Amino acid sequence: MNNPDILVIGGGIAGLSAAADLSKHASVTVLEAEEQVGFHSSGRSATMLHYFLGDRLVRALTLASRSFVEEPPSGFTDVPLGHSMPVLIHAREDEREALDALEAEIGLFAKLERLDSRGVRALCPLLKDDAVHGIVDHNAIRLDAHALLQGNLRQLRANGGALVTSARTVSISRDSGIWQVRTETGDACSAPIVVNAAGSWADRVARLAGVQPVGLEPRRRTIITFDAPPGTPLDRLPFAKTIPDELYFAPESGRLFASPMDEVPSDPCDAQPDEYEVALAAYRMEERTTVKVTRIHSRWAGLRTFTPDNHPAAGFAGDAEDFFWLAGQGGSGLQTSPAMAAIVESLIVGTDWPVADVSAHDLDPRRFLAEAHSPTK
Ligand SMILES: Cc1cc2nc3c(=O)[nH]c(=O)nc-3n(C[C@H](O)[C@H](O)[C@H](O)COP(=O)(O)OP(=O)(O)OC[C@H]3O[C@@H](n4cnc5c(N)ncnc54)[C@H](O)[C@@H]3O)c2cc1C
Repeated sequence: MNNPDILVIGGGIAGLSAAADLSKHASVTVLEAEEQVGFHSSGRSATMLHYFLGDRLVRALTLASRSFVEEPPSGFTDVPLGHSMPVLIHAREDEREALDALEAEIGLFAKLERLDSRGVRALCPLLKDDAVHGIVDHNAIRLDAHALLQGNLRQLRANGGALVTSARTVSISRDSGIWQVRTETGDACSAPIVVNAAGSWADRVARLAGVQPVGLEPRRRTIITFDAPPGTPLDRLPFAKTIPDELYFAPESGRLFASPMDEVPSDPCDAQPDEYEVALAAYRMEERTTVKVTRIHSRWAGLRTFTPDNHPAAGFAGDAEDFFWLAGQGGSGLQTSPAMAAIVESLIVGTDWPVADVSAHDLDPRRFLAEAHSPTK
């Protein structure tokens, strides 16, 4: 293994996108524990880019990422990073107030169309008659996670960077201002700067280096796929979501997928779907739509990992030199990855700050250190 300027731990979308940007300025190596990139959260998501996720900060990061997805840099990819898919938020009569509030909030980021019951059904004929209100963002994007991951990897390699798979970091120490990293297979390498992009495992990786964890909470989310009723216009269906976080569904490779939007706390692991959430997805699908989920074609689960304030942590640790945090992207790590990578580049290399509505302070991992050290806590 070589000894680069910057060692990135974690080959998910966070680590690969940051590595691709950093490799324009420095030698970069990514260490990934699994045999392939994107094996965990980045390969298990709903792959949407839209503004109904998270809060204002997440929306600002999403907005700042959008142009990258629409027009990737030359040489990044041979295939589109996504295609247009409307996002419909549907509401029953008793959910109308919540829909109005959401419309006002999201209207700052996207042009929304208001739909009455006829409009809702025209866009999504599967919904039951009690879905009488809706707002739709016609410009949302269904991402291609594979293309995003591979594009970043391609850029990393084109700039002379490297990816080492099956390289789980098991020890990290600091010697004469250089981080020394050892993997499960006994390989060792060193670098002045370490970027901790280990997803759900990022607190554990920090502990290996003697760095205080930021308090990450991985939460499991489940997706099932099943057949759509014959004649469903799958190529025109939106990504449809309830006003409360109860259900979303969308077309998926000739079928439908649905999630009960579960958020079950979990240890970092190879997340597996639980029977309860699988059944809940089918139940909620039948509750809100006219679809009968008679046979589940496939199921999977992944972890969405949150910091204590639900905002990502990106920045140097307050209690160790040159140890950089890039974690806690929650449920929006794919759609915010271009902006987050540019932020990492700015904080490590000193390029211009890329997102006007987000500050380094907003993302600074030291906010959790200060909280932990507060005499009142
Ligand atoms: C069901 C579901 C739906 C989602 N929907 C969306 C969506 O629609 N839009 C969106 O933007 N986001 C969505 N997300 C969230 C998104 O998938 C995550 O925010 C994102 O993938 C996090 O990327 P990551 O690189 O931090 O984590 P990961 O992809 O988990 O990558 C971390 C990597 O670090 C590696 N690693 C861990 N420990 C070590 C170690 N010691 N040494 C070396 N490597 C290590 C792991 O093997 C892993 O590959 C969804 C997630 C789920 C689960």
